[in-house]
Amino acid sequence: MDTFHTERSAVSRSESFRGTRHVSIARACERWKEIVGEKFLHVDELTVTRFGENVSGLSREIAAVLQPASTQEVQEVVRVAHECRIPLYPISRGCNWGLGSRLPVRSGAVLLDLSRLNRIHEVNAQHHYAVVEPGVTQGQLYDYLCEHHLPLMLNVTGAGRSTSLIGNALERGIGYFSSRADSLSGMEVVMGNGEILRTGFGSWPDSRITHHYKHGIGPGLDSLFVQSNLGIVTRAGVELLPAPEAHAALIVSLRDETKLGEFINRLADLRRRGAIQTVIHVGNRYRTEITLAPLLCERLQTETSDFQTMKASVEALLAAEGFGSWSAVIGLLGTSAHLQASLDEVKRELSELGRISVLTDLKIRGAKKILNALSFLPWARRKSAILDATEPLYGLSKGIPTDAALGSLYWPIGELPPKKQARPDRDGGGMLYFLPMMPLEGNVAVEMMDLTKGICDRFGFQPATTLNVVDTRTLEAVISLSFDRRKPDQVKAAHDCMEQLHALYVEKGYPPYRVGIQSMNRVVDLNNPFWKVIHDLKHVFDPHHIIAPGRYNLL
Ligand SMILES: Cc1cc2nc3c(=O)[nH]c(=O)nc-3n(C[C@H](O)[C@H](O)[C@H](O)COP(=O)(O)OP(=O)(O)OC[C@H]3O[C@@H](n4cnc5c(N)ncnc54)[C@H](O)[C@@H]3O)c2cc1C
Repeated sequence: MDTFHTERSAVSRSESFRGTRHVSIARACERWKEIVGEKFLHVDELTVTRFGENVSGLSREIAAVLQPASTQEVQEVVRVAHECRIPLYPISRGCNWGLGSRLPVRSGAVLLDLSRLNRIHEVNAQHHYAVVEPGVTQGQLYDYLCEHHLPLMLNVTGAGRSTSLIGNALERGIGYFSSRADSLSGMEVVMGNGEILRTGFGSWPDSRITHHYKHGIGPGLDSLFVQSNLGIVTRAGVELLPAPEAHAALIVSLRDETKLGEFINRLADLRRRGAIQTVIHVGNRYRTEITLAPLLCERLQTETSDFQTMKASVEALLAAEGFGSWSAVIGLLGTSAHLQASLDEVKRELSELGRISVLTDLKIRGAKKILNALSFLPWARRKSAILDATEPLYGLSKGIPTDAALGSLYWPIGELPPKKQARPDRDGGGMLYFLPMMPLEGNVAVEMMDLTKGICDRFGFQPATTLNVVDTRTLEAVISLSFDRRKPDQVKAAHDCMEQLHALYVEKGYPPYRVGIQSMNRVVDLNNPFWKVIHDLKHVFDPHHIIAPGRYNLL
């Protein structure tokens, strides 16, 4: 009787809370409609459901979706939310695949989709930076550089052309050349009361140095808006790279699986000596398979549509081409002399351990010509398919964004990506990322890969793993679990497996540097003074706690 009574009161309390909330959201919507226009406020179930689709198999309630088009509109939207105490969850392009996609951390928020803030305000070729809004994608900026023949290169990620430069940086994403967050400067941030804060020298109205020297004067605030919920970034400088005189990409496939530790140590050595200056991606066999196989199938135009037959022939092809248990992709940039010296050094250091293929524009063009001429021979067709399939990865190492890797969300469930455009959040492939940081030491990598395999085996998953040599000291592990989102038992097993991986890495002293929305509560801890300070800062920047509640914060 008591229990029933308690439950009844809880239900009526929550109903009355929901009712009140409903009224205030309805009132806020009336005002938001005036600000963004009726077309850009969505409350209908179909649109809201679309925004909630995600590859991770998660579910959150989204109260509405708002799509402002300017900083001023964002400010006005925030003022209304502040007054009505309605949480807003800002996203730039919402491609946070494997970590929650467009979903808010907590149910009930209104999604603030910033994709219409998509202006490129400035590109400075001399000082190699661009000033962009959050809706600007890496594909858009790349196309702009090409159209204007600018000798600049993007610090691309492998996540597709439609992803946001600012959104990725605000998750502390890692590009092919460095951490994206480090390349931000002079941010324009809308705070929780609708006021604007400009960081670094951006706070000086006449500053002409904002995007050259990001620190400005006084305490640096940029980092406070990365992996945080203290503000909404509406504009920022993004560092670009001057296009190098020469470029090459190396694919190095490890011959003997038991030599992974030595391989990592030698790569670390090359990085420390400066022979390699970009992020080195070392993918395991399954990562190579799920990335290259969809591209190979497309190129080979196999007669069979039976997935298992396709899979067997692609696996055999990859093995015949020497892709081993681990394969590294290394980008080399610099003057021609520097590049030649680096190449010699890398070959000297790694040829004993791995099979090395060197790709340059010239080599690719030459090989294509020959293979085309010999295309009546089956081996030439196979070589040609491998070359075509690896070309987008080669492109990443010179700053060309591509959607090529999105096929990896389809292959594990026995499908090929749609010919027109991959829609990972809508189609059936499921994926979760676990992203720990480790010291750049071969023995640590070997130990953690063995333990990872042990846990994944128990849950029946084959992890696709990339070990990224991020700088001279750090090794990032990108571990992804693939599953069929239409099968609830697989979704549950993947999430349980993730929890165990999280616990293992934390116990070993290698916590994740970035987590999905479902794991925020495993990271944020009221008893830890660090999170207490972040909690206190929330009151300063967002007094009514309306921005992204729960995102890397207690509030
Ligand atoms: C095949 C594949 C390859 C991938 N490769 C990479 C890779 O190489 N490197 C990498 O880092 N990731 C990678 N990813 C993961 C992910 O897809 C990217 O990080 C992607 O860039 C994130 O989506 P987005 O850029 O649209 O950012 P969003 O999803 O828009 O933003 C991410 C989060 O940042 C916050 N945020 C966004 N915009 C704002 C704002 N303006 N103000 C305040 N907060 C904001 C929000 O909480 C949001 O959820 C990959 C994923 C896949 C499937």
